[in-house]
Amino acid sequence: MATELQTEIPSGRLFIGGEWQDAASGKTFSTLNPATGEVLAEVAAGDAADVDRAVRAARQAFESSKWTTMSARDRGRLLYRIADAIEARADELARLETMDNGKPLKEARMIDIKESIDCFRYYAGWADKIEGEVLPVSGPYLNYTRREPIGVCGQIIPWNYPFQMAAWKVAPALACGNTVVLKPAEQTPLTALKLAEIAAEAGLPTGVLNVVTGFGETAGAALVAHPDVDKIAFTGSTEVGKIIQREAAGTLKRVSLELGGKSPNIVLADADVDAAVKGATMAIFYNTGQACTAGSRLLVDEKVRDEFVEKLVKRGAGMTPGDPMDPRTRMGPLVSREQLDRVMGYIEKGKAEGAELVLGGDRPDVNGGKGFFLNPTIFDRVTPEMTIAREEIFGPVLAVTTFADLDEAIDIGNRTEYGLAAAVWTRDVGKAHRAAHALRAGTVWVNMYHALDTGSPFGGYKQSGYGRELGRYALELYTQVKSVWVNLG
Ligand code: ADP
Repeated sequence: MATELQTEIPSGRLFIGGEWQDAASGKTFSTLNPATGEVLAEVAAGDAADVDRAVRAARQAFESSKWTTMSARDRGRLLYRIADAIEARADELARLETMDNGKPLKEARMIDIKESIDCFRYYAGWADKIEGEVLPVSGPYLNYTRREPIGVCGQIIPWNYPFQMAAWKVAPALACGNTVVLKPAEQTPLTALKLAEIAAEAGLPTGVLNVVTGFGETAGAALVAHPDVDKIAFTGSTEVGKIIQREAAGTLKRVSLELGGKSPNIVLADADVDAAVKGATMAIFYNTGQACTAGSRLLVDEKVRDEFVEKLVKRGAGMTPGDPMDPRTRMGPLVSREQLDRVMGYIEKGKAEGAELVLGGDRPDVNGGKGFFLNPTIFDRVTPEMTIAREEIFGPVLAVTTFADLDEAIDIGNRTEYGLAAAVWTRDVGKAHRAAHALRAGTVWVNMYHALDTGSPFGGYKQSGYGRELGRYALELYTQVKSVWVNLG
């Protein structure tokens, strides 16, 4: 494919202490193009020995005069330069992201890469505005606080928004003066390696950003266990989040977790039905449903159910999967064969437990069946107890349930161990705010879905994790407060 030929695939080596290195073991693994099932690149399989080297490089950089004496304003300037460099290579990065992850090229370019540039610029602006306070203490003393960096941050990210997740993690950490060891997901390691290259070219000092590719159980676990890592920031499944919290306890690392979701998308009878249908389609099928905030539980007022489901099925059918490089494609493949099998397993469970399959459930004929494609899938008459209403599927599978009134909708909406996001569609402003306050989720959308902004906090309630990324809230994740006392007597 012509577009692929223009994209330089990174060498697949680890980036440690400013150098490209093989894994100490010499081992590699393949990363695939999910649209074709073909091998895209061989990538170093880093493990504990490589993580140790990377952590030592990050520690050295954290203590180096180049980093410690760099003014906050210069740190900001460096982040602006990284943002500019990403922007200059945005098309190339978008193509690489699409090849490694499978998301439509237009979305990779206009959302993932664009938002990442925005993220670096936003935190560049914060770098010299991280302030302490002078506090009115008793006695002849001056007391003030400093917000200092935490140190070496281990950042473990998932495969659904590979570059954007790297930006959300790396930009605030660097703005606050930390150093980083980044572990991208094994399914999508390539754009994180590009970020390392771009940041180094933009002048980021050696060792400040290191990237160790590899598997979760080896490279990821080694980062979490390493005694010289001060903080772990993790985005991924709730299951792995629990392991990380447990393992981090051994060295009392600071931990922030952005985990799974099973977000309710609530449509009241007075909603603008067409807008809600459009929103609900995007809520579940955007990124092929591989979003932790996916609106995977559609709760519809029983009074409008028939009309709503009919329109939803029609619109969902228009989300035909196709080659992600094709500009007409609305939905790409799932990221891997494993993910496809998992999602198909849930579809079988939905059928077996008595939900009514009203759209999809099968695989389309794209690229000769070689890619990991699945048709948009909708189940109607789903009850809250069914597996597909309770477990995070992370695929294009929607569960539709009905309710009688707002209280019941909120009750069903909150009947989940997760609490990442929720939405409500209504023209009644009172009901909108009642729902927004009562839903136990870190983000609530009213008459919209999937909106995010670098300036607005993002994170979970309940088992969707804790800590808030984005906005000024992320500065709290990457700084610690020191209280300084001066005797004036
Ligand atoms: P998913 O199930 O969506 O693939 P995971 O939570 O398994 O999500 O993976 C998210 C990230 O966590 C990936 O970078 C993965 O390599 C990493 N990871 C998986 N298991 C562990 C672990 N035990 N310790 C540390 N990191 C892990």
